Amino acid sequence: MDFRDSAAESAFRNEVRAFIARELPDDLAKGGMPGAMFGGGGGFDTGDPDLMRQWLGKLAGRGWTVPAWPAEYGGGGLGVMEQFIFNEEIALARAPRGLGGMGAGWVGPTVIVYGSDEQKRQHLPPIAAAEAIWCQGFSEPGSGSDLASVQTRAVRDGDDWLLNGQKIWTSLAHRADWCVVIARTDPDAPKHRGISYFLVDMKSAGITIQPLVNMTGSHDFNQVFFDNVRIPAEALIGEENRGWYISTATLDFERSSIALNVSHLIAVRELVKLAGHSKSGGRTRRELADRKVEAEIGRLMSLQVVSMQTRGLIPNKEASIAKLYCSELDARIWGTALKMLGPHGMLLRGSGARAPLGGAIGRSYMYATTSPVGGGTSEIQRNIIAMRGLGMPRG
Ligand SMILES: Cc1cc2nc3c(=O)[nH]c(=O)nc-3n(C[C@H](O)[C@H](O)[C@H](O)COP(=O)(O)OP(=O)(O)OC[C@H]3O[C@@H](n4cnc5c(N)ncnc54)[C@H](O)[C@@H]3O)c2cc1C
Repeated sequence: MDFRDSAAESAFRNEVRAFIARELPDDLAKGGMPGAMFGGGGGFDTGDPDLMRQWLGKLAGRGWTVPAWPAEYGGGGLGVMEQFIFNEEIALARAPRGLGGMGAGWVGPTVIVYGSDEQKRQHLPPIAAAEAIWCQGFSEPGSGSDLASVQTRAVRDGDDWLLNGQKIWTSLAHRADWCVVIARTDPDAPKHRGISYFLVDMKSAGITIQPLVNMTGSHDFNQVFFDNVRIPAEALIGEENRGWYISTATLDFERSSIALNVSHLIAVRELVKLAGHSKSGGRTRRELADRKVEAEIGRLMSLQVVSMQTRGLIPNKEASIAKLYCSELDARIWGTALKMLGPHGMLLRGSGARAPLGGAIGRSYMYATTSPVGGGTSEIQRNIIAMRGLGMPRG
């Protein structure tokens, strides 16, 4: 396979570069490092909200908030490869690309595959216009890796459903307009066959959101409580009690999006520059060389996921392989950075000029510890690879 851009891809890359150079306000281009995969804030801590709105409006005007979606839903009508190129250029420019990744990355694609025409018309254009923010209500206090054991209940009440239960680790619930929720609709069925998948308006009465502040001091995720929340019949996506299979597609889209993280090569490049100015840089030169090799491998894995998507396939074990590798690489890259810089590297934003790269390193290191957990832990990815990739029996 020839990994270089084709002539058309190269022309597209140039078009994106020219667009960014022309339209991205200087104050929105991030100095310093690209963050870790779960870099926090979901694109919200990128500076002036008015500038952000203007920039997103320009992206949306071209369909570039969701480059590979059909134009009828506000997308760019481009291929997955162009979307990958677009993501690379956006990452290179440290430009924000949307409000939280969930709507564009995995909720929208799920609605495209499983939603009714009405659900597509209602939900896809606001995501493409960067107006609707989504969150994902899957995990519960007793159900993370064993997601099919969720206990949140949805009970039919006339034309509506009544939702009761608790979700946890719900990223961006405090900013979200909508939430995808999986809930038990048949408690007597085997656990995978009694779950349904709902699109829930976060303004519904009976929803309480409690913040969970992480170790960087950021409020990114939450606990969400549903207390007799009334949701309409049309909130159900797909068939009743078939929601588990829809949620696994959402997770495949999520892991593919995580796998398409293109910031590792950029991070290694910035660390190499820093090593040149640092007395301790020589200490970690071989480690940096390893990280460079690994980042190149991660890019090839991302390209494998892209090439499957280009052929209309939803990567499953391939997304798990890339997610496992890239998320663990995330932790290694920032670990190498701290080893290189020592305690100096832990100076955070607000520590003045002495904080390397504006304090991004310590923060990325802390966030990188969550990369192998969010979107399904490394152990769960290994289970998937063993069963679906290698055909081994369930452990
Ligand atoms: C930054 C971040 C953002 C998140 N955002 C969201 C969100 O927006 N929405 C959402 O719904 N969830 C979210 N999550 C939750 C995430 O999906 C869960 O944390 C994850 O699936 C693990 O579940 P758990 O925390 O309950 O751990 P557990 O499932 O309790 O796992 C504990 C440990 O046991 C291991 N383990 C469990 N089962 C097995 C097994 N069968 N084989 C081998 N090892 C096993 C796990 O690998 C882990 O090491 C987020 C998590 C993080 C870190």
